[in-house]
Amino acid sequence: PSLPSPGPRVVRTTCPYCAVQCNFDVHVENGLAVKLMPTKECPVARGTVCKKGLAALNDLRHPERLTDPLLRKNGQLVPVSWAEALAYVRDALTPLLDSNPAAVGVYGSGSLTNEKTYLLGKFARLALKTPNIDYNGRYCMASASAALNRTVGYDRGLGFPLGEMAGSDLILLVGANIAETLPPIMQYLKAAKDRGGAVYSIDPRATVTAKVAGHHLAVRPGSDGVLALGLIHLMKRWGKIRPTAPAHGLAEVLAQATAYPSQRVAAECGIPESELLLLAKRYAEATKPLILTGRGAEQHAHGTDTVQAWLNLSYLTGHFGKPGGGYGTLTGQGNGQGGREHGQKNDQLPGARSLRDPRHRAEMAALWGCAPDDLPQPGLSAQNLLNACGQDGGIEALIVLGSNPVVSAAGAGQITENLKALKHLIVIDFLPSETAKLATLVLPGGMWCEEEGTTTNLEGRVQRRRKAITAPGAAREDWRILCDLAAAVGRPQGFEYASFRELQDEFFRATRGGKADYSGLSAERLDRASVQWPVRHADGPDTPHAYAPTYPTADGWATLHVPELPAPAPARQLTLTTGRLGHHYQSGTQTRRNTALLSKNGADHGVQVHPETARDYGLRVGEEVILRTAHGQVTLPLTLNPGLRPDTVFLPFHWPGAANLLTDPHTLDPHSQMPAFKATAVTLLPAHAA
Ligand code: SF4
Repeated sequence: PSLPSPGPRVVRTTCPYCAVQCNFDVHVENGLAVKLMPTKECPVARGTVCKKGLAALNDLRHPERLTDPLLRKNGQLVPVSWAEALAYVRDALTPLLDSNPAAVGVYGSGSLTNEKTYLLGKFARLALKTPNIDYNGRYCMASASAALNRTVGYDRGLGFPLGEMAGSDLILLVGANIAETLPPIMQYLKAAKDRGGAVYSIDPRATVTAKVAGHHLAVRPGSDGVLALGLIHLMKRWGKIRPTAPAHGLAEVLAQATAYPSQRVAAECGIPESELLLLAKRYAEATKPLILTGRGAEQHAHGTDTVQAWLNLSYLTGHFGKPGGGYGTLTGQGNGQGGREHGQKNDQLPGARSLRDPRHRAEMAALWGCAPDDLPQPGLSAQNLLNACGQDGGIEALIVLGSNPVVSAAGAGQITENLKALKHLIVIDFLPSETAKLATLVLPGGMWCEEEGTTTNLEGRVQRRRKAITAPGAAREDWRILCDLAAAVGRPQGFEYASFRELQDEFFRATRGGKADYSGLSAERLDRASVQWPVRHADGPDTPHAYAPTYPTADGWATLHVPELPAPAPARQLTLTTGRLGHHYQSGTQTRRNTALLSKNGADHGVQVHPETARDYGLRVGEEVILRTAHGQVTLPLTLNPGLRPDTVFLPFHWPGAANLLTDPHTLDPHSQMPAFKATAVTLLPAHAA
């Protein structure tokens, strides 16, 4: 694209703060973004917007914005030229790459554009030749992705346009607080209710979403999957099993459900049996029930199996894949869908190909001009990559692009020590995150409206992100930085793009033949309209409905798996669940600095408990309390939340030194590699008693 012109302009682009990807018009004057307006033409938000989006201009010229490379000298990060920064990269990485490339790790983000996702994977595998690349999407919707992939062969979070949700007569939101995390979707939920549909929130917290939904089942943290098994049991008893299509595993899944009668399920979920039976009756009678999971159901060490249980229910009752019904996951991160498709996962090649598949390796090697055997095999997944940092025989140098694991990783205390023990920590970011502050080198990157690219929203809709302004100072667009790094380590081949457009066109080509096929796309086509993948031909249609009853599996059939769910928590156990607040994004690097979002900060970072729990433990509002788990301890002020289960403690994860000091860095979901963010046994006591 040409450089932005200096005169007043209006540039349409996408919001970076969640997977709805609302469209904005950014008004530019004198090279600065001065105003932001939502647009009614946005196919999903339809002119609505949330407070994070409205405040999205504020951080662009924040006083702490990184504008020069920073190199650690005598313990301090000091500004240096790009030439000195890249000389450091050369001297730091070249000896490692020559002797043991696996000692160099790469850690990406679900907030990157599709093109950056693609380039980061190519950079790791072609330039660095390391197997050890993964990204923070492992902490997002990875469990839903794993369940969909193993069941129907691919994963497009929502298989239909969001607007069809309004036609559902029963919506089950399982661990999904959309009123705070994906607010524009509430219009479809309300439309479904206006047409007589029922909406259930299944969540240990009575969230804003639960209040709007009107029906709330306050299940124990981690018991969502058991609830689904109970519903399958009742559907079977009531003669409601009529699978979407023939599938492997039907008999085994139905046999398992016989062990989950409603009495057992109600006891394990901590809900009245009458409420379970009422929900089951509504589900049995619904013609177009829609099950949507969010992080509450997915962020467990048994997250894949929890999602599997709900997916099985949808499939067994014949609703999976139906327009506006069936099953879907509500992807969260800014480009959570595209970010999980194009090669920054440890086992993945672009277009949602597998690094384990010889044909896929050959296809990508042909495009990249290398031999298939030159491509590394799958390496460490995100948490294991961070666990290996600074360890003997592990990762010695880590490159982080747009992520802040010091706040967001499980067991963040240990991860912080690991990052400090690295020989080299190179962080590409636009604000000094807690991770950047530990770096040996920080490279200043571009923010959302300072870059071109594409992003893919939670319904697989590919949209253009357009550059409105230029990054300040010596900051560079991230794609250029990755090409600079490849050149710095003496491996520029494949990274000498004359323009962003050249990179973008290569990216579209790279997806050809993959499950997430974007090869029919061009910037010009996306200027006419957004499209839902796969899009295989330049003049061919897109795919609003992804899940046809013939799937991209070996024989075209789905495979239902028998979920393995843990035993229920002991009755008197207090369980910590972590989560988001409506006005913050991820590790808070941006939103904790955004003045328009700061008003509640002081009150919001505390420990939330039910008033009964506070009374039982002799605690008062505002007093400092200690939360202790097997993995760490924090001291924070207490707030009351009458919408919480009395056996549940809630702590938001947007702050350093808080929620993720308490989570387990070692117990991961075997299928998705997800840590258990949503259910950790915890002890609560007043700070003065310690
Ligand atoms: Fe829209 Fe999400 Fe941005 Fe809010 S954060 S404006 S809902 S894309």
